[in-house]
Amino acid sequence: MLSKQYECPDCGGSEGYRSRRRNLLEKYILPLMMLQPVRCTSCYRRTHVSMFVHVPPRMPKLSAKGHAAA
Ligand SMILES: [Zn+2]
Repeated sequence: MLSKQYECPDCGGSEGYRSRRRNLLEKYILPLMMLQPVRCTSCYRRTHVSMFVHVPPRMPKLSAKGHAAA
Protein backbone atom coordinates (compact mmCIF):
# COMPACT_ATOMS: atom_id res chain seq x y z
CA MET A 1 0.00 0.00 0.00
CA LEU A 2 1.22 3.44 -0.86
CA SER A 3 -1.00 5.30 1.54
CA LYS A 4 0.84 7.69 3.78
CA GLN A 5 0.02 9.79 6.76
CA TYR A 6 -0.78 13.44 6.27
CA GLU A 7 1.59 15.90 7.88
CA CYS A 8 1.09 19.62 7.82
CA PRO A 9 4.23 21.37 6.52
CA ASP A 10 3.45 24.34 8.71
CA CYS A 11 2.60 23.06 12.18
CA GLY A 12 3.44 19.39 11.72
CA GLY A 13 -0.09 18.37 12.58
CA SER A 14 -1.18 14.97 11.35
CA GLU A 15 -4.86 15.76 10.96
CA GLY A 16 -6.32 17.36 7.91
CA TYR A 17 -9.37 17.08 5.75
CA ARG A 18 -9.98 17.15 2.09
CA SER A 19 -10.67 20.64 0.90
CA ARG A 20 -12.93 21.61 -1.95
CA ARG A 21 -11.34 22.18 -5.31
CA ARG A 22 -11.74 25.87 -5.84
CA ASN A 23 -10.50 26.68 -9.28
CA LEU A 24 -9.56 25.26 -12.62
CA LEU A 25 -6.06 24.54 -11.47
CA GLU A 26 -7.26 22.43 -8.59
CA LYS A 27 -10.01 20.84 -10.63
CA TYR A 28 -7.97 19.82 -13.63
CA ILE A 29 -4.29 20.23 -12.97
CA LEU A 30 -3.97 18.80 -9.50
CA PRO A 31 -5.45 15.42 -10.43
CA LEU A 32 -2.98 15.17 -13.27
CA MET A 33 -0.21 15.73 -10.79
CA MET A 34 -1.79 13.26 -8.38
CA LEU A 35 -2.37 15.97 -5.83
CA GLN A 36 -5.32 16.91 -3.69
CA PRO A 37 -6.06 20.04 -1.70
CA VAL A 38 -6.01 19.45 2.03
CA ARG A 39 -6.64 21.77 4.93
CA CYS A 40 -4.93 21.29 8.26
CA THR A 41 -7.31 20.98 11.17
CA SER A 42 -4.85 22.62 13.55
CA CYS A 43 -3.69 25.74 11.74
CA TYR A 44 -6.08 25.69 8.76
CA ARG A 45 -3.25 25.96 6.31
CA ARG A 46 -4.26 24.78 2.87
CA THR A 47 -1.77 22.60 1.06
CA HIS A 48 -1.62 20.17 -1.82
CA VAL A 49 -0.61 16.67 -0.94
CA SER A 50 -0.28 13.43 -2.84
CA MET A 51 -3.46 11.52 -3.52
CA PHE A 52 -1.83 8.57 -1.85
CA VAL A 53 -2.00 10.38 1.44
CA HIS A 54 -5.10 9.28 3.23
CA VAL A 55 -7.16 12.28 4.23
CA PRO A 56 -10.74 12.04 5.45
CA PRO A 57 -13.39 14.13 3.73
CA ARG A 58 -14.61 17.20 5.53
CA MET A 59 -17.00 16.31 8.28
CA PRO A 60 -20.51 17.55 7.67
CA LYS A 61 -21.77 19.57 10.59
CA LEU A 62 -23.56 17.28 12.94
CA SER A 63 -27.07 18.46 13.48
CA ALA A 64 -29.68 17.20 15.89
CA LYS A 65 -29.00 13.86 17.42
CA GLY A 66 -31.36 11.00 16.82
CA HIS A 67 -31.83 11.67 13.15
CA ALA A 68 -30.91 8.46 11.38
CA ALA A 69 -28.26 9.01 8.78
CA ALA A 70 -28.45 7.08 5.54
ZN1 LIG B 1 -1.06 22.84 10.34
